[in-house]
Amino acid sequence: MSQQTQAPIIIIGSGFAAYQLIKAIRRSDLTTAIQVFSCDSGDDYNKPDLSHVASKKQLASDLIRATGAAMATEFDFELWANTRVDAIEPDCHRILVADQAYPYSKLVLATGAKAFIPPMSGNAIDRVMTLNSLQEYQAVEQQLALAKRILVIGGGLIGAELSMDLASAGKKVMTVDPCDRLMANLLPEYIALQLGKKMQGLGVELALNDSVVALNHTSDSTSGSSSILAKLASNRQTEVDMVISAAGLMPNIALAQRAGIAVGRGIIVDGFLQTSAADIFALGDCAEIDGKVLAYLQPALLSANALAKTLLGQATKLELPAMLVKIKTPHYPIQLGGNTVVGIQRWQMEIDAEGCSVNALNAEGTLQGFVVAEQHMNRAFSLLKSL
Ligand SMILES: Cc1cc2nc3c(=O)[nH]c(=O)nc-3n(C[C@H](O)[C@H](O)[C@H](O)COP(=O)(O)OP(=O)(O)OC[C@H]3O[C@@H](n4cnc5c(N)ncnc54)[C@H](O)[C@@H]3O)c2cc1C
Repeated sequence: MSQQTQAPIIIIGSGFAAYQLIKAIRRSDLTTAIQVFSCDSGDDYNKPDLSHVASKKQLASDLIRATGAAMATEFDFELWANTRVDAIEPDCHRILVADQAYPYSKLVLATGAKAFIPPMSGNAIDRVMTLNSLQEYQAVEQQLALAKRILVIGGGLIGAELSMDLASAGKKVMTVDPCDRLMANLLPEYIALQLGKKMQGLGVELALNDSVVALNHTSDSTSGSSSILAKLASNRQTEVDMVISAAGLMPNIALAQRAGIAVGRGIIVDGFLQTSAADIFALGDCAEIDGKVLAYLQPALLSANALAKTLLGQATKLELPAMLVKIKTPHYPIQLGGNTVVGIQRWQMEIDAEGCSVNALNAEGTLQGFVVAEQHMNRAFSLLKSL
């Protein structure tokens, strides 16, 4: 037997995608050796819960479902926590951590994505925080608890969820987005407007068609840390205690790129989640499937189930059905499915006292996607089936 076939499966990352993959492997195979290398502690938590931490007054530690060590014991893998992988050598079938080489039979990249921070000027740009991981939340939880005025950069899905949650927690929130409505890449205008109204009702100040151009420290200081003066492109100014960027995600592709693996927006994979390099696969927020990065739990779960079979010798193509996206804005809950943006010619709307349903139709009048809000969410599954 060659050294390569004896080597373990190595997984880089310990987020949702990595752990779903390990669970799927262990459902049918208890013997294949698995090593996990992760920049973080490997603790298992539900990342979407980060959208509710402020209103629930939670600590990062409250979100942990199992420690990395407990996961490693339960699912029998070797965890290298707080260990950044520096390089991949595809020709030698090994990864490098510092100068140490670790051989793999198969390598899985589950490196996730990082939050994008738009370019800005000023002496307080290092005060921009992100909430894309438990560790990032841990770093700011005290500051978040103390902050009274918060600027949220980005009115997309995560920005809207966080803004509503922070306002529900009693914070004075301003949400800035360059588009003319919230979640412009997902929602039709009517629903985006209703969501905006609910947020304004909670005290959120919306600065749409606008962007933050500069962040500077102010001279007056409260509790030792100065507040921040944010200047917008419209020349509006606002003074805040904290700035959170929720302006989109950038898949972590650098490791793959340095190894000569094909990347686009994410790490490019085929229908079997195989990258351009032999025996190297990718899934989750870092992967680009059919030209798209699908930074949601459901595609990662389906990818993990298919990839587990492939890694265990039964090549399995990923099939992605139309999927439901739940937007966690409890004062105006929304669900959507299918395509609600590209090639949509006509919106078919039904509005009543219970809520709103919007069907997205193409030029031939065929249903491509839908958005349902409030009580109309009980239609979501039948609409999903008809896609
Ligand atoms: C606030 C918020 C709310 C959300 N709400 C929802 C929701 O309601 N529904 C939904 O479907 N999705 C939601 N999502 C998205 C969902 O949580 C993500 O799609 C999913 O958790 C991504 O999992 P992942 O494993 O791909 O990446 P991550 O969880 O980011 O894991 C990446 C891992 O890679 C490791 N890593 C990276 N580089 C290296 C390296 N060089 N060496 C070693 N380790 C490395 C990191 O340490 C980490 O362990 C939300 C996300 C956020 C931030």
